[in-house]
Amino acid sequence: MCAIVGVFGVKKASTVAYYSLFSMQHRGQESTGISVANDDRISVYKKRGMVADVFSQETLDSMKGCCAVGHNRYSTAGSESTGDSQPVFAKYKLGEISVVHNGNLVNKQEVRDELIAKGAIFQTDMDTENIIHLIAKSQKDSLVDRIKDMLTRIEGAYCLAIQSRSKMFVIRDRFGIRPLSLGKFKDGGYIVASETCALDLVGAKFVRDVKPGEMLTFEEGKEPYSEQIFEPDYHPCAFEYIYFARPDSIIDGKNIYQARLEMGRRLAQETPAQVDLVLPVPDSGVAAAKGYAEGLGVPFEMGIVRNHYVGRTFIEPTQEIRDLKVKLKLSPIKHLIKGKRIAIIDDSLVRGTTSTQIVKMLLDAGAKEVHMRIAAPEIKYPCRYGIDTPTQAELISANFTVDEIADKIGATSLGFLSVEGLIESLGSERNYSLVSFDGNYFAGGNANSLGCAGGC
Ligand code: AMP
Repeated sequence: MCAIVGVFGVKKASTVAYYSLFSMQHRGQESTGISVANDDRISVYKKRGMVADVFSQETLDSMKGCCAVGHNRYSTAGSESTGDSQPVFAKYKLGEISVVHNGNLVNKQEVRDELIAKGAIFQTDMDTENIIHLIAKSQKDSLVDRIKDMLTRIEGAYCLAIQSRSKMFVIRDRFGIRPLSLGKFKDGGYIVASETCALDLVGAKFVRDVKPGEMLTFEEGKEPYSEQIFEPDYHPCAFEYIYFARPDSIIDGKNIYQARLEMGRRLAQETPAQVDLVLPVPDSGVAAAKGYAEGLGVPFEMGIVRNHYVGRTFIEPTQEIRDLKVKLKLSPIKHLIKGKRIAIIDDSLVRGTTSTQIVKMLLDAGAKEVHMRIAAPEIKYPCRYGIDTPTQAELISANFTVDEIADKIGATSLGFLSVEGLIESLGSERNYSLVSFDGNYFAGGNANSLGCAGGC
């Protein structure tokens, strides 16, 4: 998961990076960091916590320079280490570099074992540290050639921003699995960010998505230089559209809200329910629920209130805490629900924790029937490309039939969007990354290989 940003040729680059990370807080809440380069040095500030809590005006003012890279780290269960935050900074033969990464390298362990055998030492579990080591160990004379060398050794999903004192390099893997957009400021200067919502907040104009397999080099007084490093084999992640990205963002020309609305409409065609009312699981199910209600011609209501001061529930390490947190977070509006047949729409079903709680909550609030509808296909395989899904043993759809799951979560009925329906909602002209649904690990790795614990 995670978010990255790179800012180049802008006076207060640290402040621009800060607001960009603020707008992408949903992509990672464990830790955040920014590094800024000027002629003298690269300075790094990173800490556990949310963007607004970590950075003060004073800190940002002290980080002087026209180039900044930044990162929000997603909290993976059990990963409590402060050292695992980014940017990752190092001094090496050619000077100083700082790296931020969004994705997950599937050959992390193999490369790490090789480096360790040659005497390298590692401070963290992060695959980003592999990247730094590979650059430092390359025998090439320039940073750009060392980066290219490094790129031949890493596999999987990655969006990278790499900063030296005078340049910035931005790279997207050849599959384009994670999103990355380029924007331009009116008064000069550029920004690259995981989501376009960051560009909107800081007033940058969207230029285009960074192409799969492309490297962009930013240098003072020059336009960004584009180089196609790898033959593109575009497989954007479908889960960005389903759940992860913000509804106002645009990936590859497709607005996330519109995509979710369409998924809801398809869901209504594929698995209609005889109901009086359609409710979303807030916030991630809202757009799909609106589409579902439209498709059925049934009223849509925000019948569940979300308490925004509780963090996401998915990331807690034990089942007991997860259950309590769902109740803390969501609360039904009883007078809307009592005596009604309800369709409740969520964006995805992973372990089944949220839906079990919600079905019970609605029945307790007096619902006559609760029909659960999921605006995504069944998740049967762990993602290895940067979405934090649990092991196959924990994925409810990998272990039970739809009817069994309906029973387990206590729903009157249960329905999922088909893979074909998802593809049609997104536009069939692309090969999406559908690994969680079809187990096609096209970029390497497999259901049992390393997950995202060391990725970002
Ligand atoms: P679960 O309760 O385990 O079935 O998870 C499903 C809920 O978690 C849904 O409401 C989703 O919005 C949310 N969700 C799905 N995937 C993820 C993820 N990778 N990280 C955090 N939350 C997620």
